[in-house]
Formats: sequence, structure tokens, C-alpha cells
Amino acid sequence: MSKGITGKETDYSAWYNELILKSELADYAPVKGCMVIRPHGYAIWEKMRDGLDKMFKDTGHENAYFPMLIPESFIKKEAEHVKGFSPELAVVTHAGGKELEEPLVLRPTSETIIWSMYKNWIHSHRDLPLLINQWANVIRWEMRTRLFLRTTEFLWQEGHTAHATAEEAEEETLRMLNVYKTFAEEQMAMPVLIGKKTEAQKFAGAVATYAIEAMMGDKKALQSGTSHFLGQNFAKAFDVKFQNEENKEEYVYATSWGVSTRLIGALVMTHGDDKGLVLPPRLSPFEVIIIPIWKTDEEETKVRSFLEKIENSLKSADVTFKIDDRTYVTPGWKFNEWELKGIPLRIEVGPRDVKENQLVMVRRDQSEKAVKHLEGVGKESRTVLDAIQKDMFEKAKTFREDNTKKINSYDDFKEFYESDGGFAESYWCGSPVCEQEVQDETKATIRVIPFEQPEERGSCIKCGKESETFVVFAKSY
Ligand SMILES: [Zn+2]
Repeated sequence: MSKGITGKETDYSAWYNELILKSELADYAPVKGCMVIRPHGYAIWEKMRDGLDKMFKDTGHENAYFPMLIPESFIKKEAEHVKGFSPELAVVTHAGGKELEEPLVLRPTSETIIWSMYKNWIHSHRDLPLLINQWANVIRWEMRTRLFLRTTEFLWQEGHTAHATAEEAEEETLRMLNVYKTFAEEQMAMPVLIGKKTEAQKFAGAVATYAIEAMMGDKKALQSGTSHFLGQNFAKAFDVKFQNEENKEEYVYATSWGVSTRLIGALVMTHGDDKGLVLPPRLSPFEVIIIPIWKTDEEETKVRSFLEKIENSLKSADVTFKIDDRTYVTPGWKFNEWELKGIPLRIEVGPRDVKENQLVMVRRDQSEKAVKHLEGVGKESRTVLDAIQKDMFEKAKTFREDNTKKINSYDDFKEFYESDGGFAESYWCGSPVCEQEVQDETKATIRVIPFEQPEERGSCIKCGKESETFVVFAKSY
């Protein structure tokens, strides 16, 4: 491990890549655009997966698994869907030494294969709602890739639900959007805006797309999760009908929703600093790194027996930890390494601490040292970890607020995006032409149309026409 990474201010993009490689979250794979998620990164993904999975199950969903090979004809059944995904498809044409009769697509998302199966499973209103989630990998042949943010293959979850009425499906779409918001804010310590996407930005095949959007450390937005109301589009494409309570045949209503390993990129860019990753305690592979310090065998014996007391106290408070007692690297080296890897809390113990019945605690998010008494160190650690979780959220929220500006004139808007940028709160007339022109001229796009709209009207940031739609613009990943 070589020391140091490029500063955030110097080159944000270099900082991001170096942080991921050096903190051992991921590495580049032999195939361009693919990445290997290394154990440290995968442990974070497992925490995310466990947290979300519990929330999905608490809202009535079950997991299932569908194959990754999809007949090419399925993708073509929903017109908008095929138009949206065609450029990114990877297709298997040969297998078992022969050319296949029908090419098979490596799933870019699973609506089509899942709805082809729902046709067999849904017959009556008694079969609804059907609430299924899948944890899987997907393949999208992206031209420009970045570790975690956009890779050819990535891990995600995709929820696919079927409902008897449009109202129920819309309710589900928003329920899951709120699950994502809660997860982002409570577990990732990442504040998000929620709202609807414009027609131009919605999912290929959806009636409406909703998203959570977060501000990254360079003031750009990252779409961090989406929830789609699919109406009857996929039910019609796959002929999925049910007998309603009046014994009439009707097409089923659908939703789909997903978050991916992109969330790890979001964690890096929301909280990371020039020393590396800063992990919120709830998603850190473990919460405390303990670094014992000794020079002689006699000191080692004393420190080790003192460590046992610390371990017991941490265990009794359900604090997760790891002891780094490697002898071939110096304590200073270990401090740097665990700071780079973002472990929320460090405990240092040396012979002098043993004598005084104390230890040193260092918060990753602040780096001040605090001397604590051995007694009650477990409880104390829990209190400090809770404070870190809360402070990280508040810090990210303040950063977003400081970089969000109400802008009414297009000249100010252009200047905003020529300089530092951030989130611009403006009005929009609803025209896709205005939306596109703003994007062409400033690279900023409408991230969300917030649910909460102000009473007053404004004028469209581009054409000046009176408008009632309040939107949030940003440059984005
Ligand atoms: Zn306009």
C-alpha cells in the first residue's frame, strides 16, 4: 500500500479512483468496464444488502431468483423498453459450440423475464398483490465506465410487484421510494431529495419514475435509487390479465424499483476526505479498530491482558471490532491504513495507558484524540458511534444546504454552473425543449420535481414563461 491519495480539491476524479483502489474497495477487472469488488467493498455491500433486505421483508416482499439469460424476443415486446436498452445489450449468439436459434440477452434488468412468468402465476385478484424482490447481477454495455458508479456488470436488487389497481401500484411505488430515502438517511448518513423524474429522464417503459438524489462532495448529483410506476405496459406486452372482483378480465398494474452497488460510490463521495474513506458506523464492516502498542515482550503481555477487558466491554455493548496486532508494520502505518479504509472509531492502547487504566479514542470523522477510562468503554464506544452516525448526516446535510441556491434568472443560472455549481432551485415550464436547451448549454439537468411544490408560481428558468413547476437542477453522474 503506497501512502497518500490525490487531494479532493486538486482532482476530484483522481481522488475518487485512488481512494477506491488504495482502500481496497475494488479493482479493475481484465474486461474493460468490469470491476472486482474486493473483500472490504463487498463487506459494505453485504451490510447494505442486509439492511435493505430487512426493510423489504418488513414491507411484505419475498425474494426470488430469475435467470440471467433472456430470449431476445422478450426485450422487444415492450416498445419503449427495447428502445431504451438496445444500445447497452450484450447478446449471446453461440453456445455449446453452435449458433443459437434465438439469441439470448444478458439481463440489463428483469421486467421482461419476470412478467413472462407472472403470466403463469397471476389469474385472479386473489393472486394479487404479488410482491417479489430479486438480488442479482445485471449487464449493461456502457461506453464510459467508472468504478461503482457505472460498470458493465453490477450488483443490485430489483423489486417487481403486480397489483390489481393503479392506485395500489402507485402507493407501492412511493412506499419503496420512501424505504430508499430512509435507508439512505438512517444507514448511509446521506441526505436525499425525493421526487418525480421528467418524461425525458424516466425509465424506458415506465409511466412515471421517482428517484432519490444526493449531493456528492463535488456538488454534483448522484441518482441513488429509482422506483417506477409501470402502469399496464408490461402486463399488456406479456398479456398478464386477472379476473377482478366483478369477474371481469383486466390487465395487471406493475411497479419496479432498484438500488445497486452504485450506493458504495455514493458513500465514498458523500463522506470521503483527503485521508480516504469515512464510513458511517451502521455500514462499516466493523465499527472499531483496536491498535495495541508495545515494544518489549513484557509490555506485550500487559497490553494483551488489558485488551481482553476492552474486548469484553465492547462485546457486552454489541460493538463490533477488530484488533490489528500485526508486528511487521508500525502503529503509524496502521493508523493511516484504517483511516484510508474509513473505520469509524480507533482505540489505541499502549503500556502507559495500561498503567493508568485508560485508552485513547480517535473518531475517523474528526480525528481529535480523547482519553477514556477503561470502565464502561463498551457503552462509551456505542455513544460515540451513535454521535458519529448523526454528525455525518448533519455534516452532509449542511453541505447540501450551503450549496443549494434559489435561482430565477438564466444569466445567474449559467454563471452558477460555470463556477462552483450545486443544486439550483428554479421553475420550469414543462417543455422538453427548454429542458434540453438548459442541458446543452450548462450540462445541468432536472434531477427531481419535488413532491412539495411551493404555493407561488415562478417563471421558467429558460423561456421565462409563467410556470407552476418547481424543480431542482444539477450536474450529475
Ligand atoms: Zn420554458
